[in-house]
Amino acid sequence: MPERVYLDHAATSPLRPAARAALLDALEHPGNPSSVHAEGRAARAMVEAARRVVRESIGAGDQGLIVFTSGATEANATALRQRATAPGTILASAVEHPSVLAQAGVETAPVDAFGRLDLAALEARLRRGDVARLALMLANNETGVIQPVADAARLAHRADAVVHVDAVQAVGRMAVDVGVLGCDSLALSAHKLGGPKGTGALWLRAPDDVTPLLAGGGQEGRRRAGTENTAGIAGLAAALTAAMAEPMEALVGLRRRLEARVLAIAPDAVIIAEEAPRLPQITAMALPGVPAATQVMALDLAGVAVSAGAACSSGKVARSHVLDAMGTPAAIADCTIRVSLGWTTTDADITRLLEAWGALAGRRSRAAA
Ligand code: PLP
Repeated sequence: MPERVYLDHAATSPLRPAARAALLDALEHPGNPSSVHAEGRAARAMVEAARRVVRESIGAGDQGLIVFTSGATEANATALRQRATAPGTILASAVEHPSVLAQAGVETAPVDAFGRLDLAALEARLRRGDVARLALMLANNETGVIQPVADAARLAHRADAVVHVDAVQAVGRMAVDVGVLGCDSLALSAHKLGGPKGTGALWLRAPDDVTPLLAGGGQEGRRRAGTENTAGIAGLAAALTAAMAEPMEALVGLRRRLEARVLAIAPDAVIIAEEAPRLPQITAMALPGVPAATQVMALDLAGVAVSAGAACSSGKVARSHVLDAMGTPAAIADCTIRVSLGWTTTDADITRLLEAWGALAGRRSRAAA
């Protein structure tokens, strides 16, 4: 039996050896970071070292506060939580992750055919004066398309709105600098980088502007009550350190080879938002006439794991809200799969995927003949 090929890193990336080692080491530490004795101080030192790693990875320097969370869903929800005393509209691009779109007070802003926020429409909407926050992801989890965050942040700030960035898929995959982006908060998640599931971080430029989701102890600068998940946090820092040290050229090369071969095998195949600036590791590709679920199942049987758009919690394949917002015709959207590469991906993995996908495309052609 050939080994399985895992090409679903955007859903979750396998645990890196360095992250596993850091997790296991942290689990051996008995202390609570809030305790004053030596065991507590050792746990605290581990958490603070991890905080410095997160700060460096997003160019935050000494500015603002890093809050460790249970993942990016919690980080997004915390950043976007409305104050009962000062409710305002949260404008979010129509292609945001559900953890953003599900927040109270969210109104969606249109995107272009590549899924990039329409800046003219944003400017016009901001002129109405009631937008308190703008939520814009740095890069999309289904297509990899990179958003014009700095330009959008300038417009939002001119209208006195604060800007939250979901950088889950971008951190460790492209340069991320909160100063360059001009954002006021930023969310990231460990398991997309080869860290443990259930750990993330939120950077807040002005921590006092945020009402904590969880009340209780004074942990995390009083922004997130509850004893810190020290093992998860150590695993996050180790995964982030490894991801930041990795050159991205290899992934870009693999993705380009994949896309070029796909178009050579099936000239009517579509690489979604092919001409837009995109992350190195994600490609969304359509094989017209073959539903995404059929492709995913056939590839799975051939030993290759990919997904039909985002990993959906229900396990069902539904029409992608991202492709819908981009105006992608249903005949293409329904036949689009997401292939996402990561730290385990090799040239041989891409070859296996191409063989299996090529066989599917061949069956389609024979059926049509
Ligand atoms: N934002 C984006 C863009 C994502 O891809 C994900 C992962 O599915 C999340 C947020 C949620 O992250 P987590 O699984 O850490 O809650």
